[in-house]
Amino acid sequence: MRIAQSIAQVRQLVREARSAGKSIGLVPTMGYLHDGHLALLKAAKTGTDFVVVSIFVNPTQFGPNEDFENYPRDVARDETLLQDGGCDVLFLPSVEEMYPKPLATTVELAGLGQTLCGASRPTHFRGVTTVVSKLLHITMPDKAYFGQKDGQQALLIQRMVFDLNIPSEIVTVPTVREADGLAKSSRNVYLTDEERPHATVLYKALQEAKQTLMEGVRSGTSIAEEMRQRIANEPMVVLDYAEVVSRDTLEPLEKLEGPIMLAVAAFVGKARLIDNVQLTLVGDDVIEG
Ligand code: AMP
Repeated sequence: MRIAQSIAQVRQLVREARSAGKSIGLVPTMGYLHDGHLALLKAAKTGTDFVVVSIFVNPTQFGPNEDFENYPRDVARDETLLQDGGCDVLFLPSVEEMYPKPLATTVELAGLGQTLCGASRPTHFRGVTTVVSKLLHITMPDKAYFGQKDGQQALLIQRMVFDLNIPSEIVTVPTVREADGLAKSSRNVYLTDEERPHATVLYKALQEAKQTLMEGVRSGTSIAEEMRQRIANEPMVVLDYAEVVSRDTLEPLEKLEGPIMLAVAAFVGKARLIDNVQLTLVGDDVIEG
């Protein structure tokens, strides 16, 4: 595995791979890698010939009182995991490399970036879509891989690529979970032993809501309320939101049909955790994905 710290270096390595006839895959991450990230690497290795994984804790997607400084980092461990997983290039830019000047240009999805996580983190998605568009322009991959765990993020990036005619296919990879259902996340390290068992309530609330849908309920407000009660009643957990939204508009739906997302976010101690389930409702049928 090669390690590129500059944009020029990673572009050179990608250019060489392209000249050898290889297709390019990109997996953007903020590091502190876990099995969720490694599932993206595996998917990228299956779907493309030459895989670039980026590790960049992107300051512009953190709010002023968020965890940028304390975000967990362990590049030496990440390097080993990527090497073992068959990554071709680790792109490891510094903040100065990615942002040599204050940005005059940003990418922002009006509306879609202000709901759900965007309501409590108003500048978050502008940071995400801007840095992902930079990474796509830097590496020009055939395919870029994102986790379904960050469901709103994946939908925004898909829409950004569509709106701006960026010639990369966006591939979404299913959420990797712990044995008890908790979605794997670098931020799970913030959970204390006491808090950890309570963190599964996000997954449980989503599964119970799915069960309610399978029983034939089609009212978005009642299912969202059921999830809110379930999460709010859990000790040590503070609800941020629980919504049932259209996957096109990300707006809450009352009469449920077609492609929907059940999305939840909550604070457990210092950790802000998110999770979601994506379903398609066709008549009485509830289809995964
Ligand atoms: P992060 O390093 O948290 O910014 O995540 C980098 C990429 O990994 C994003 O596309 C995430 O959606 C994805 N990811 C994070 N956790 C998981 C998970 N548990 N399962 C699948 N993908 C994940």
